Amino acid sequence: MKTKLLVCVSLCFVMCLSQILAAQQPPGQAATSSNPPEPVLPYSPSLDLSSMDRSVDPCADFYQYSCGGWQKRNPIPNDQVSWSVYGKLYQDNLIFLRGILQQAAAKKGQSDAVTQKIGDFYAACMDEAAVEKRGLATIKSQLDLIAQLKSAHDLGPVVARLQLSVTGPILFAGGSRQDPDNSEQQIAGLDQSGLGLPDRDYYTKDDAKSKEIRERYLQHLQTTFELLGDAPAAARANAVTVMRMETALANASMTRVERRDPYKRKNKVKLAELDQLIPNFNWQAYFAELKAPQFEIVNVAPASFFKQVNTQLTSEPLENWKNYLRFHVANAYAPYLASKFVNENFEFYLKYLRGAKEMQPRWKRCVQFTDRDLGEALGQAYVRKVFSPELKQSTLNMVKGIEAAMEVRIHQLDWMSPETKQQALEKLHGIRNKIGYPEKWRDYSSVRIDRNDFLGDVQRATEFERHRNINKIGQPVDHAEWGMTPPTVNAYYSGQMNDINFPAGVLQPPLYDSKMDDAPNYGNTGGTIGHELTHGFDDQGSKFDAHGNLREWWTKEDRQKFEEHTKCVADQYAQYVVVDDIRINSRLTLGEDVADLGGEILAYLAWRDATKSKDLQPVAGLTPDQRFFVGFAQWACDNERPEEMRLRALTDPHSPARYRINGVVVNMPEFSRAFACKAGQPMVNPPEKMCSVW
Ligand SMILES: [Zn+2]
Repeated sequence: MKTKLLVCVSLCFVMCLSQILAAQQPPGQAATSSNPPEPVLPYSPSLDLSSMDRSVDPCADFYQYSCGGWQKRNPIPNDQVSWSVYGKLYQDNLIFLRGILQQAAAKKGQSDAVTQKIGDFYAACMDEAAVEKRGLATIKSQLDLIAQLKSAHDLGPVVARLQLSVTGPILFAGGSRQDPDNSEQQIAGLDQSGLGLPDRDYYTKDDAKSKEIRERYLQHLQTTFELLGDAPAAARANAVTVMRMETALANASMTRVERRDPYKRKNKVKLAELDQLIPNFNWQAYFAELKAPQFEIVNVAPASFFKQVNTQLTSEPLENWKNYLRFHVANAYAPYLASKFVNENFEFYLKYLRGAKEMQPRWKRCVQFTDRDLGEALGQAYVRKVFSPELKQSTLNMVKGIEAAMEVRIHQLDWMSPETKQQALEKLHGIRNKIGYPEKWRDYSSVRIDRNDFLGDVQRATEFERHRNINKIGQPVDHAEWGMTPPTVNAYYSGQMNDINFPAGVLQPPLYDSKMDDAPNYGNTGGTIGHELTHGFDDQGSKFDAHGNLREWWTKEDRQKFEEHTKCVADQYAQYVVVDDIRINSRLTLGEDVADLGGEILAYLAWRDATKSKDLQPVAGLTPDQRFFVGFAQWACDNERPEEMRLRALTDPHSPARYRINGVVVNMPEFSRAFACKAGQPMVNPPEKMCSVW
């Protein structure tokens, strides 16, 4: 489980679902570990009439019309920060995965190596008494390493050592990345990081709420130092120091909107120049400790951030650096330590910042830790049970239909020149479709998992993953690799890979429902496929070519016209209120909003084409077109706490669920026709304001 805000793989469909957990006790709760139940995924239909509120006028608020019943029936469970159709499916997955893990854990020494590994990892996590008893002993070696620092110059290898095994931010991020100019090649990369609050804006905004959050964070810093054994006065002083250091790093960091521009994230320098840019850091010792392969080029972005690091390396005394690192080691490991750390972590990150009322039961956290650290081992058992070859084939057919619809749309665009269309088609044809699970599973055989040492397991799994990442430097890109585990209820597009990725977890009912007819399936999963495809052509994705290289393939005029079309969407979403007086930061959400609109248009066209020879009839008072749109809206039914909405307004590139539906249908004449909406009604944009990009 990620108790802190995580940045998920770029351009995913919903926010990281690993954070969305439920409170209900699962069926089979009474089963003992020696008699674990056979796991089953419950069924819910992709179009649920009881989730609607037909007293609402669909032309006034289509989201409410489609989801009003769901919202009433689904209050947010106490251990959740929000609750949604996606979140419920994720919850069902957790129960299901728990069944797999309990079975694996019960078969001590009698199963294959992969099953043994996930079973031991889960069993070690569930052994709360052992975790409690170990106390801080498991992180002693890291704390000693920090205590023994003699000078700021020694920070290089220590930062490297900590980055290898600590599960949170240590000053900056270092590893491999795709070369923006040659997407077939991995190069070294350094990036901003090192903050304890979810975004740099938390340190820089000066409204009353931001100030209150910083005061509360100072208290969290102090408490963490006290848990490490500092006296209250020293803990307070150390808290103030860390806050000052992080604030300086935050000020030098790029905003999320700036980071949407891949050109701003590109700054390739020679390794020798790194020593000139940041001379106060021992890079040679840093990369040696990481055991990084030899390389000459490293991407350093943003340079302003690393210049600030360089300044602080001399302006802050060594003692302050030690405290900065001590805090981040303890803060990152808190979810895996004794209960006093777990509780403090929950109190600040989930209760105060995001509004959860109570902690998730331990088993839920343990299932998620296993999915995060050994995801492609756990995923093997998962897909064996829930993802048949037939399901893979039927979703692949849908993908092909939506790609064909996109090809038609590109040909029809009246604002784009033939030259740019040619390039766009080449890019569309170059997209790789990855459905369900990887063709080759990650090999965890070198990760030692000890049934009696939970945090040790987490550290070794983290180090395995970090080395796997670092070892890619200088290597060709592996296109078979996935950035999400198979049980994940989410999907993503990668601009540099030019691929769409649909884990098995997101291809289950009620999102993809093989028992249901095409209309709601195309509205829902078809729209998601179209969404991911459109990401290849949104404000960010459009900057990468068919091969995933950062290259302008548009004519100047076409780029200008494209920006006029996307500005229409940005202006539309900027009007929507998230919570209180906070409006959508539509320059942050632009790519997602464009993808939502484009995706649903493509899904509609593909659905019409797939069913052109069928005689579609109304069902339960809804016409086929109405069923398509209600099916679409019902992926997004949700309830959210105000704290969570506030956090997402700053950090989530997706608009709130209501606008991901209403903001799309106002731009689709097919919707107005389906529900006989009239000009002037809220769900109908006047023609001159109607936005369309793709
Ligand atoms: Zn997206």
